[in-house]
Amino acid sequence: MSENGPLIIVGTGLAGYNLAKEVRKLDNDRELVLITADDGRFYSKPLLSTGFAKGKQADELAMQDAAAMAEQLGARVMTHTRVLHVDTQARTVRTDAGELHYGDLVLACGAHARPLPLAEDVQDRVLSINDLSDYGRFRQQLDGRKRVAIIGAGLIGSEFANDLALGGLEVQVIAPDEQLMPGLLPAQVAAPVQAALAKLGVRFHLGRSVVGAQAAGEGLVLELDDGSQLEADLVLSAIGLLANTALAQDAGLVCGKGIQVDRYLRTSDPHVYALGDCAEVMGMQLMYVMPLMSCARALARTLTQEATQVSYPVMPVMVKTPACPLVVSPPVTAATGLWTVTGEEQDLKALFHDAQGTLHGYALTGAAVSEKLQLNRQLPAWLA
Ligand SMILES: Cc1cc2nc3c(=O)[nH]c(=O)nc-3n(C[C@H](O)[C@H](O)[C@H](O)COP(=O)(O)OP(=O)(O)OC[C@H]3O[C@@H](n4cnc5c(N)ncnc54)[C@H](O)[C@@H]3O)c2cc1C
Repeated sequence: MSENGPLIIVGTGLAGYNLAKEVRKLDNDRELVLITADDGRFYSKPLLSTGFAKGKQADELAMQDAAAMAEQLGARVMTHTRVLHVDTQARTVRTDAGELHYGDLVLACGAHARPLPLAEDVQDRVLSINDLSDYGRFRQQLDGRKRVAIIGAGLIGSEFANDLALGGLEVQVIAPDEQLMPGLLPAQVAAPVQAALAKLGVRFHLGRSVVGAQAAGEGLVLELDDGSQLEADLVLSAIGLLANTALAQDAGLVCGKGIQVDRYLRTSDPHVYALGDCAEVMGMQLMYVMPLMSCARALARTLTQEATQVSYPVMPVMVKTPACPLVVSPPVTAATGLWTVTGEEQDLKALFHDAQGTLHGYALTGAAVSEKLQLNRQLPAWLA
């Protein structure tokens, strides 16, 4: 902790704002500045993939604007301001609105959508939804259109497929793997989720990649690698997120897939910290809400009271595919192991054991979701 200058937080997503809230629970006096490239509205990002079926516009998902957050936090919130450079020697950040000195700096600058290698003239018809303004743009462009193609069948692609189909759109999903959520689920468990989405009307093109796209009227024609084509009014790209590490790399901080931090959330510079989607904590890149909340609580103590290590309990992910309820605790504590699947139809229980027979993860669908709490008790903490 350094009292020699304000605490500056870059980013007002769930990581930045929750850290600020945790800091204020412990210290009302520390000068606090939050800087964000966006409009600084406080919202819960997970609601973006359930908003359409509920008929929600972007404004309805925003819970508080930046001015209200500034007042609540007793902080300065600089909106529409991009941090361009960090000088760790001088302890300054250069922004497009001038330079600021910091005592401690926290990078909570999130992640960006992995780009799709498509021609420039069609890029503006391909959207990714990773923040509230993306969602607003999507809702605006959707106006009166019905046919949406989703590229990517991971967690986010599957959730959007469920939500948009539930909301009455014609949804097609294209992905190179033969199953949904390949990084998260065994194929047997992905099958009932896919079947339930198909029942909602979602059409799947799995094992297929998009190799080109052409503008066609107001929409697009996508070319797949088997020579087939499909038409869509709007295309959503959900092929994954990349941590925003450019600022940290430029400042000379050590980065891997994310900005690398230790259990104190400290980067390779003693006065710069990172948490949330931009961070790689002890080698783990966990782009979920619960890990960033654990980080926010620990880091707030480090910044205001005493150095505190982050601990991760078991943090299962409720996948928002209501067509087929699904909860997953990914096996983050084991490098290798095997899934065994029991149950039938929609109600499956998959358990992941290592070679010694220790349970490290699970995936539950349908009625089996009720076994979540009992299984949590059997799992090792993610970071003890
Ligand atoms: C559609 C969707 C659904 C999800 N659902 C779930 C779920 O059900 N459960 C779950 O656990 N997780 C879910 N997640 C993941 C979870 O929402 C994220 O892990 C979390 O919100 C990330 O928060 P963050 O603050 O780290 O990043 P972000 O919310 O991306 O915030 C980054 C901030 O940094 C700012 N910024 C970036 N660069 C700069 C710069 N140079 N200068 C100034 N400001 C900058 C941005 O303006 C922004 O304010 C979902 C994600 C998505 C996209």
